[in-house]
Amino acid sequence: MICSQNDIKFYSDFQLTNFNTLRIKSTAKYFYMPDNEGELISLLKKFKNDNPVILGNGSNILFSSSGISVPVIYTGRIKSINHIAHTIEAGAGCKVQALAKYAYEKKLAGFEFLIGIPASLGGACYMNAGAHGQSICDNFVSAKVYDTEQNKILTLKKEDMQFSYRHSILKEKPYVLLSAKFTLAKGVSELIKSKMDENLIFRKARQPNLAIPNAGSVFKNPENSELSAGALIDKCGLRGFRIGDAEVWENHCNFVVNKGNATSKDYTDVVFEMYSKVKEKFNIELRPEIIYIGKMTGDEQKKWKILKK
Ligand SMILES: Cc1cc2nc3c(=O)[nH]c(=O)nc-3n(C[C@H](O)[C@H](O)[C@H](O)COP(=O)(O)OP(=O)(O)OC[C@H]3O[C@@H](n4cnc5c(N)ncnc54)[C@H](O)[C@@H]3O)c2cc1C
Repeated sequence: MICSQNDIKFYSDFQLTNFNTLRIKSTAKYFYMPDNEGELISLLKKFKNDNPVILGNGSNILFSSSGISVPVIYTGRIKSINHIAHTIEAGAGCKVQALAKYAYEKKLAGFEFLIGIPASLGGACYMNAGAHGQSICDNFVSAKVYDTEQNKILTLKKEDMQFSYRHSILKEKPYVLLSAKFTLAKGVSELIKSKMDENLIFRKARQPNLAIPNAGSVFKNPENSELSAGALIDKCGLRGFRIGDAEVWENHCNFVVNKGNATSKDYTDVVFEMYSKVKEKFNIELRPEIIYIGKMTGDEQKKWKILKK
């Protein structure tokens, strides 16, 4: 149902299936789609004490099958992109693939690695998303964020962002990214295009595309192992392991795919089995990249507490 509050439209009991790449069936009690930064800030002020969920492109999250009772604020409509000379500035909800294409059109090099990552800019900065040896932090200049505790806009420089492997300060502080600026290098169209094509070919061979619902790599690669998370899971014999409709992908064991009607419980159970078997065989504790959102059942809570320790 569509409702309106201070002219900002929201939906009640909103189905989230199309707003998460894992296509988990879940419902948001209140779902907001601000059209611009001003509306986003109004909502953040309004829900200051409600701990709202900030949703980018939903490509790194597991929604609870029990639903989301706090307001969900989707940033996907805040997607402006501008550039002056070699500097590109974009809104939080801009898809990073659109950024890569924009940079290519402007003959700017440095965003080729973003092609194929189904992220919003906000989500990519939150996770410090990366591929092919590069990360979003590489060309980063500054971000405009909203501090929801102090109710004010801050400008954070690269050093303030505390970027590291799949980490940024956005995971630590009550900040919502509004927009970010990057400086790229002058490039040659043909070279940028061939790098993007090469990256897409590499990706197609190693990752499920979105026609097979998934949320990207389940675990970070462990620092203390020569083997990747996927290789460790494979050596535990879990390729194709399935509970309900959640399955370890046949082609790469660090992905869990939804074969139809997977629930957050199915997904959690498979991920916990992967974690437990690797711990038992190699004494390595894998840590998840995926973020659980919503109310957990008692069993999910117990498992995610161990997974996130
Ligand atoms: C097929 C596939 C391939 C992938 N390949 C890669 C890859 O190569 N490299 C890689 O790093 N990741 C990859 N991922 C994972 C995922 O795309 C990234 O983690 C991405 O950064 C998540 O962005 P998102 O917009 O989807 O964030 P969401 O999943 O919507 O949110 C993730 C987290 O970011 C927070 N967030 C979102 N927007 C904001 C904001 N504006 N301000 C503050 N917090 C915010 C959310 O609250 C949430 O906690 C892949 C995923 C899939 C499905």
